[in-house]
Amino acid sequence: MTLEPYTVDEITSQVAALNRLARNLWWTWDQDAQDLFSALSRRGWRNLYHNPVAVLREVSEYELRVRLQDREFGALARRVLQKFQAYMDDKETWAAEHARGLAGRPVAYFSAEFGFHETLPIAAGGLGVLAGDHIKSASDLGLGLVGISLFYREGYFMQSINEENWQVEYYTHLNPRNLPVEPVLDARGEPVICSVDIARTQVFFRTWRVNVGRNPVYLLDTDIDPNEQHLRDLTLRVYGGDGTTRIMQEMLLGIGGVRLLRELGVAPSVFHMNEGHAAFLALELMREKMAGGLSSAEAEVATRQECVFTTHTPVPAGHDRFNLDLMDYALGRYIRQLGWSLDELMAFGRVDPEDEKETFCMTVLALKLSRAANGVSELHGEVSREMWQSLYADRAIEEVPIGHITNGIHTLGWMKGTVRSFWRRELCGNGNGNGSGNAGGQADGNPGAPGCGANEVLPSGLARWEAELGQPDFWARIEDPTFVKDEELWALRYRLRRELIEFSRRRLLIQGERLTRTAFIEYDHLLNPDALTIGFARRFATYKRAPLIFDHYDDIVKLVKDARRPVQFIFAGKAHPRDDEGKRFIQKVIHLSKHSELRGHLVFIENYDIHVARMMVSGCDIWLNNPRRPLEASGTSGMKCGVNGCLNLSILDGWWREGYDGTNGFGIGDDSHPENVEEQDRRDSANLYGTLTEKVIPTFFNRDTAGLPRQWIRMIRRAMATLVHQYSTDRMVKEYATRYYQPDR
Ligand SMILES: *Cc1c(COP(=O)(O)O)cnc(C)c1O
Repeated sequence: MTLEPYTVDEITSQVAALNRLARNLWWTWDQDAQDLFSALSRRGWRNLYHNPVAVLREVSEYELRVRLQDREFGALARRVLQKFQAYMDDKETWAAEHARGLAGRPVAYFSAEFGFHETLPIAAGGLGVLAGDHIKSASDLGLGLVGISLFYREGYFMQSINEENWQVEYYTHLNPRNLPVEPVLDARGEPVICSVDIARTQVFFRTWRVNVGRNPVYLLDTDIDPNEQHLRDLTLRVYGGDGTTRIMQEMLLGIGGVRLLRELGVAPSVFHMNEGHAAFLALELMREKMAGGLSSAEAEVATRQECVFTTHTPVPAGHDRFNLDLMDYALGRYIRQLGWSLDELMAFGRVDPEDEKETFCMTVLALKLSRAANGVSELHGEVSREMWQSLYADRAIEEVPIGHITNGIHTLGWMKGTVRSFWRRELCGNGNGNGSGNAGGQADGNPGAPGCGANEVLPSGLARWEAELGQPDFWARIEDPTFVKDEELWALRYRLRRELIEFSRRRLLIQGERLTRTAFIEYDHLLNPDALTIGFARRFATYKRAPLIFDHYDDIVKLVKDARRPVQFIFAGKAHPRDDEGKRFIQKVIHLSKHSELRGHLVFIENYDIHVARMMVSGCDIWLNNPRRPLEASGTSGMKCGVNGCLNLSILDGWWREGYDGTNGFGIGDDSHPENVEEQDRRDSANLYGTLTEKVIPTFFNRDTAGLPRQWIRMIRRAMATLVHQYSTDRMVKEYATRYYQPDR
């Protein structure tokens, strides 16, 4: 094909546009954009951990200009920029039609953590990843939303494992210049500075903006000059420090967040508190109203009208509680502006306002000052109603005003590049099947199927084949074996498993720090590309019971050594720095991986994060989830599997209790749990082992004359058809918008 040669001006504007694109996380769910940046510097892309901003700093502007004159690269760049522009400009969105009540007034979404991408490590776990996916889907749906969180200069910790197999935390500094963030500046180009009264001091903060498609997320940062050092360190780490740091961070988030929005002239239609950490925002809304002349009672009613609240866990430690002295210390000065006594403040955080022994609970504050509240799965809704019934003493459990919206994931964001190129090829015919899925470089292919639109850009900013992937009926079609063949799906599964195994070997080699010539060979024999690969990765909170399966150690050894039907395990996850029990679980798993007969068939990948998660949920055949029911309010990692063809093997807790239908994966136990936890552990581990040996392994290794596990592949099809759309944040955000955000409904 022919291309117009570029003019100097065109190149200059493309360079500027690429720099803007690098600072919009839209690229985290657009494969072409990732291919573009990785094609610029393949090694940089990998070594700089898939960070376009850092890649663009690594490549000189001169080099970039030269590359843009390459026919192939230039065409890819043009198409990506065109897609991005179309996406940003699209007016015909879901929200334009279905959420008119919110037009022009964004949702303000407050969350102590956000997980968008491995480049910006400011999440501790699932709560943050959920928040990140919420923003991405809101953008896709055209729902105006601003996010509020903190800029943690050292992020969440990095994990290493010492000689005793004990987790050791270390921290690295995040440099905003190398991250997809932008400073929030005033008209003179100076940082916008706001402040909050915390304890006895006025604490100042500046702000960084993360562009997530159409929506901004603002990260508050106290590391600026007028603050004393200990206050500059307030935003150092995610959930860092002790209770004092915690309450001060939460004041900054809630109160500071509202102040920032006012300063920026943003007038939200609703304030969404994602977990109780954000609930101080409601105090600030009350303070504003009282400063405007309302009485405390009037301000309370008006504030409640503006707020909604999502609770995320039934685990008691997940609900912040602060004692009277700490409340007095941290908020004493602030509440004087409201004209409140300490007792009046404490009443908002107590189930029984008169009970002087009760500490101040952020969840209680959030429930008292929101017009609607929800849990994150049906069962969690029930558990939450029971848990907080005492707040609504006159009501029966069923009437406690806490509903539920089951969590989801951002589908395109969690679909591995390999899978995206698979569908591109399936839908567009051959000619554009890009090898690894993020190898980059391919531009104008020669799509075989007319109308698939491999390179055509729709007004939504998607290629036609990408738009298909967002349709529920696309996933339903996968049940039809003539649409995509068993052989194709099985080959895809093999590629994904191999990618994970090769990734694991590389990581294990680095973890082992044994960069000798023989080490390469040795590590290349770890794990078996033909084995049934079982993954377990999440925070090592004890209720998730990571080592449960090894209760059957002797039997598991037999399973992994079965040459005909080999099984292997890949584990990853971080324990909270102060959770020694969780660290003991890690120690146990790593010890088994190094010093037991499981060696070579069980590995632990250090430093679990979004990238490791993406590799694992795509490359594993089975995703193991065995929490102590009903403590896993929803769980989301299992939702990331379906889109990549990995199957769940899970306790019927949280989302899987709703998602499992007997044909689309494997359930452990039934829809009940005993009260006694020892009994529960015993029962669950027996059921887990039973399901694994009686169902999972036989189905996986039951191959027909063509060598295919037909029934397994049928289950993959069922999982895609029944789970992908239902457990997406698209579905979830639509529910929030129609049921919670729009006040008139
Ligand atoms: C999805 C995800 C989680 C959540 O996993 P759960 O099994 O729901 O606890 C945690 N951490 C990361 C990095 C994730 O991507």
